[in-house]
Amino acid sequence: MSANAPITQDVMTIPRKLPEGPTNIVGMTRPQMREALIASGTPEKQAKMRVGQIWQWIYQWGVRDFAEMTNLSKAFRAELAEKFVIEIPEVVSRQVSSDGTRKYLVRIAGGHEVEVVYIPEEGRGTLCISSQVGCTLTCSFCHTGTQKLVRNLTSAEIIGQVMMARDDLDEWPTPGKRAPDESRLLSNIVLMGMGEPLYNFDNVRDAMKIAMDPEGIQLSRRRITLSTSGVVPEIARTADEIGCLLAISFHATTDETRDKLVPINKRWNIRELLQALADYPRVSNSERITFEYVMLDGVNDTKADAHRLISLIREFNIPAKINLIPFNEWPGAPYKRSSGNRIHAFADIIHEAGFASPIRTPRGEDIMAACGQLKSATERARKSRKQIEAEAGL
Ligand code: SAH
Ligand code: SF4
Repeated sequence: MSANAPITQDVMTIPRKLPEGPTNIVGMTRPQMREALIASGTPEKQAKMRVGQIWQWIYQWGVRDFAEMTNLSKAFRAELAEKFVIEIPEVVSRQVSSDGTRKYLVRIAGGHEVEVVYIPEEGRGTLCISSQVGCTLTCSFCHTGTQKLVRNLTSAEIIGQVMMARDDLDEWPTPGKRAPDESRLLSNIVLMGMGEPLYNFDNVRDAMKIAMDPEGIQLSRRRITLSTSGVVPEIARTADEIGCLLAISFHATTDETRDKLVPINKRWNIRELLQALADYPRVSNSERITFEYVMLDGVNDTKADAHRLISLIREFNIPAKINLIPFNEWPGAPYKRSSGNRIHAFADIIHEAGFASPIRTPRGEDIMAACGQLKSATERARKSRKQIEAEAGL
């Protein structure tokens, strides 16, 4: 088999610890790290403090070698190096778009690959990270949806994507210093890459806790947005246990159309989803829920759709902003992007009703880095256009 041949492994979970090898210390929660240190001989009384110190070296200052952790004794550093490793996904390739967007292909245990996208903007920079290799869901307009779920990412692999990007941006503060909150190159995280984050809840939560920790990556919870296709039972937990902002892949205003575009709608329909959003404990005007709405030519882009969208949001009284996403095409996609006129007419109706309706500018299209174009090179279950159309009932 050549080095570039697709890897065809079956669904599997990779244990954090190989039978005899050292344990990866990245991705552990604070209590998990404390236990791991105690189990490997750190006196219980010291463990909590050691966790704080190691945490800062790894997540605040980006150090990858225990030997550099100079506020720990030499003997302790050597012990750590024997029992633990600091491991993040390996960058396989890096492409830079003409608009500055960077797309990374990173390799994780088992030889699988996921994509990570960095989008620089005026005064901020957003990292779009993945939560799964593939996806169990089969949204008919999404490239990732044509790939079966291979496996969930571990918390180390999720936070590791952020660490990898900070390496590439050369953005770790000098040890002993805090990172400035403003002017960070990587200032925001969106869970909008491959996979459905709420189907990998615990690992996503543990990783985002590290991203928000004042001794970790130090991003405010308001700078992290989790996008879900609508896993209703996990929505309240997202507020309680993560506390980040929420985006919903809404995309249609009738159950009939949403069933085809976002098949999870057959399990939890539009009204059930909206009720869960109305109940989202943190919803307020300062923390609105983003409704993502992909503009598909002739499918969901009429003026009637725009009016229905507004009445649904009003009926459930949800503080919302509506993010219109021009459809990003991918090879074999069964849809076309709505025309600019249609998209603007739709946006105007929403805007006149008093809701923010930004149109998302596609970024990194020349390197297939735009929303919904991500698909891992390890894919093995490519569906044909015909199959996609049949499943979408087109
Ligand atoms: N699984 C999650 C997060 C990943 S998708 C979710 O579905 O919300 C991130 C966003 O990109 C979602 O709103 C998704 O619906 C949208 N998207 C997927 N494919 C797209 C495409 N081809 N063009 C534009 N947006 C797309
Ligand atoms: Fe999965 Fe989200 Fe793509 Fe749907 S849009 S297939 S949930 S990644």
